[in-house]
Amino acid sequence: MASNLVPITVAHGDGIGPEIMAAALHIIREAGARIEPEAIEIGERVYLRGINSGIEPIAWESLRRTKVFFKAPITTPQGGGFKSLNVTTRKTLGLYANVRPCVSYSPYVETKHPGMDVVIVRENEEDLYAGIEHRQTDEVYQCLKLISRPGSEKIVRYAFEYARRNNRKKVTCFTKDNIMKFTDGLFHKVFDEVGVEYPEFEKEHWIVDIGAAKLADTPEAFDVVVMPNLYGDILSDVAAQIAGSVGLAGSANIGDQCAMFEAIHGSAPRRAGQNLANPSGLLHGGILMLVHIGQPEVAERVHNAWLRTIEDGIHTYDIYKEGTSKQKVGTKELAKAVVARLGQNPQKLKAASYAKAPKQTVDHQLGATKRANKQLIGVDVFLQWNERNPTEFGKQLEKFNGDGVRLKSLSNRGVKVYPESFEETFCTDHWRAGFFAEQESGTLTHQQVVNLLDRMQKAGLDFIKIENLYTFDGQKGFVASQGE
Ligand code: NAD
Repeated sequence: MASNLVPITVAHGDGIGPEIMAAALHIIREAGARIEPEAIEIGERVYLRGINSGIEPIAWESLRRTKVFFKAPITTPQGGGFKSLNVTTRKTLGLYANVRPCVSYSPYVETKHPGMDVVIVRENEEDLYAGIEHRQTDEVYQCLKLISRPGSEKIVRYAFEYARRNNRKKVTCFTKDNIMKFTDGLFHKVFDEVGVEYPEFEKEHWIVDIGAAKLADTPEAFDVVVMPNLYGDILSDVAAQIAGSVGLAGSANIGDQCAMFEAIHGSAPRRAGQNLANPSGLLHGGILMLVHIGQPEVAERVHNAWLRTIEDGIHTYDIYKEGTSKQKVGTKELAKAVVARLGQNPQKLKAASYAKAPKQTVDHQLGATKRANKQLIGVDVFLQWNERNPTEFGKQLEKFNGDGVRLKSLSNRGVKVYPESFEETFCTDHWRAGFFAEQESGTLTHQQVVNLLDRMQKAGLDFIKIENLYTFDGQKGFVASQGE
């Protein structure tokens, strides 16, 4: 009956996208999925038609109506061109949680980690993916890393709720808060705070570099791992690859209102149009989608038929191994093999069970933000100056002291170079001059900052941006330069 069908928005994507989407849709339909796909076009082809954003209003309209998006990978131009449609979609639809289960299927798919079953929960909206980038001088470019308290609270709570609903035992957090003390420091702090509400779990935090090494070496030691956007992006590919193939893992992008399901890999343009690609990653995204739209019994049929196919040694090139595999197949043939096994269960691998599938969204009750007593105590003025002589520039900048403001230090790429510098320290044309209230523990007004900039522009200095330096309830809201 038509009214039974759940409308879903489908993008067939670029590169291998159309082939793997056709295969995944064929399987889930044959398994009895009650869906009504609405195709939209996004990405390269739309961009080439002259739509700079790569997505048209009609596509947004479909997404906002169906609230469920099944998406094949999209090519994102590197270094220029349109912004990542994946990132735009995730952020515009508020899909803050990216859940990526990475499971090994030993001995049927070769892996060095037979017992691997790790779920990466990646923050999906913030961090360096805000896409706020600037060229500021001839020599220096910047990308802003934004981490918010509500954003961190939402993703960390999601990770713990996911762990609770899926009977997981441990939740690990990765950050680099020894270096990024404020941004990653906040994420870690929120992990510790929210973790208190989930006493049943073992909890741990790793610095991301050694954590990544440990994950790649001993993934069995991890269960649910939550991390900021960039680390999660990189490490979920690593985790999927060491589980067997990047072509195997799917992901759910969950928001409060909408959700998007996809493979974790990209559009693999070199493999496109050859009936080679493994559709399993996207199919796993589809299984997560079926659970989300309330068709867990179909998800189970699909997943178990797929496990049986893998057990039967019917493998695409990326996981095919002489001796272990029985038959090397293309995208279409893999789909046919899965369809032929619908209704069957794996014999050795653990069968999937979604009978009691937990819902995938989480109810958030974000507390009201506590507003601190915020005091302006200084300003960092960033300037372009083309000589590589910090002492000379520091002396020039001291001439702007007065009106209750004084230069405290000058730094270059975060290293203090005035007063006192090492001749070994390399300087670019991008400088940060820290001006503070003249009086110890004094405050500044915005007008004093404007006056300082006015004096600088009259002297012909090129200030490229400022950052106000605040205290929040007496705590410094900025980090000192290295060497300060
Ligand atoms: P990729 O994941 O597309 O491919 C890397 C390699 O992995 C391929 O050459 C292939 O050897 C293998 N591979 C990937 N998927 C496979 C599959 N299903 N079956 C068999 N082998 C597979 O990574 P890339 O080459 O860095 O990116 C290509 C494009 O995809 C870029 O434009 C990138 O921006 C985009 N991308 C899109 C998404 C997305 O849509 N969510 C995610 C990542 C990358």
